[in-house]
Amino acid sequence: MKPVVVIVGRPNVGKSTLFNRLTRSRAAIVADEPGVTRDRQYGDGVIGDRPYHVVDTGGIAQALSERKGGDALRELMTAQVREALAEADAILFLVDVREGLNALDREIAGDLRRLGKPVTLAVNKAEGMDRANAAAEFHALGLGDPWPVSSAHGEGISDLMAHVLAPLPRAPEDEAAPADMPRIAVVGRPNAGKSTLVNALLGEQRVIVSDQPGTTRDSIHLPLERRGRAYVLIDTAGVRRRSRVDEAVEKFSAIKTLQAVDEANVAILVLDAVAGISEQDASLGGYVLERGRGIVIAVNKWDAVPAGDRDWAKRELERKLGFLAFARAHYISALKGQGIGGLFTSVDQAFVSANRELPTSRLNRILASAVAATPPPMVRGRRIRLKFAHQGGRNPPVVVIHGNQVASLPDAYRRYLANVFREAFDLVGTPVRIECREGE
Ligand code: GDP
Ligand code: GDP
Repeated sequence: MKPVVVIVGRPNVGKSTLFNRLTRSRAAIVADEPGVTRDRQYGDGVIGDRPYHVVDTGGIAQALSERKGGDALRELMTAQVREALAEADAILFLVDVREGLNALDREIAGDLRRLGKPVTLAVNKAEGMDRANAAAEFHALGLGDPWPVSSAHGEGISDLMAHVLAPLPRAPEDEAAPADMPRIAVVGRPNAGKSTLVNALLGEQRVIVSDQPGTTRDSIHLPLERRGRAYVLIDTAGVRRRSRVDEAVEKFSAIKTLQAVDEANVAILVLDAVAGISEQDASLGGYVLERGRGIVIAVNKWDAVPAGDRDWAKRELERKLGFLAFARAHYISALKGQGIGGLFTSVDQAFVSANRELPTSRLNRILASAVAATPPPMVRGRRIRLKFAHQGGRNPPVVVIHGNQVASLPDAYRRYLANVFREAFDLVGTPVRIECREGE
């Protein structure tokens, strides 16, 4: 399992700027998809050959304090932040050199020390500053040597992350598990109806899994069969078990979600049609997309949406999750068991699409006619040339295109090509990636 790095700090120190920088290489791929949300709280980073998960607790604290109408500063150490910290392998505590050391920093430092986990103290916004000067006053936090960095300018970040990851065990090689059947992760925010849906998916076959010993991070793989087809449902601890409804807010775990998506090849994103679509939904969808998994959208609690509101609810989905337009959406009621069969059909379709073989000869014919229909633009007086294509991977499908000046190919053109391939090969419910290479 990849190590989990959790970023904490008071508001405005630069947590989300750091998060975006750490996850940027992936986001660059995702940026090919139109309307992708930039506002995420969890993602993957890599330093050298070491991948890791990263969680930004900022948005979580913010969202929670908005909901409770409380004071953002007092709400910093919310239950959700604590849960993220409990599951962290390493904590990255960010402070702001321009604001200097303040009482809240001391408070957070005290909390972190009590956790007994490795904490790295990073002093942000230190661009153009002398190392020793930037660090000086923060020694007082008693968290070891402060690391001056600039998240905005990318200074000191690689050294910082190498230091954070150094003491952690290496994740085993990401062995491409055989994709012989759909492995489904059910993800969604608290109360969306995940537990109810998991039970509906399991149907008759429900196995009573007793509380098994193990870490909170263990996930359970539940085999199931439907219409003669086999599936595996990945249940992260917590989705199926629930004792009290009011635990809902505390129960959401970004890390379990990351893990479930990682282990799956198709994710069912469960939305709450009554509560509406939130930033957290977009963030989750963004993560699934970034990981290249198949996606099926389940708009749940449709039974409780009055007929007069249904058109509006459908438009809201297009508006807020437009970047997942390639995924099938189902309007279901997990509670009443309505629409479950359709979900399986779309899971099958996403799985088959994600693993489809794209023969080179066909790829090249399609590329040639796409280029003839709409030629790529000119750069510096010369036309970008796209010469030939081949398949570079599955789940998600990757199309590698060789040509000249491909680095200048506009995102819009890459999207155009992705859509052409998507239609030609009938790829539904899976992201499609275009990779350009210069030359032959
Ligand atoms: P968060 O609330 O902790 O997530 O903080 P943000 O990432 O939203 O950043 C807060 C403000 O600090 C923004 O205006 C950023 O542009 C700015 N900022 C972040 N990192 C740096 C940095 O390294 N140097 C400078 N000068 N400003 C930064
Ligand atoms: P989780 O936190 O995502 O696992 O959500 P739960 O499965 O625990 O469901 C949260 C609440 O929504 C419970 O009170 C469920 O009974 C209710 N719920 C779940 N699915 C539906 C549905 O399809 N329709 C309605 N009306 N309520 C539902």
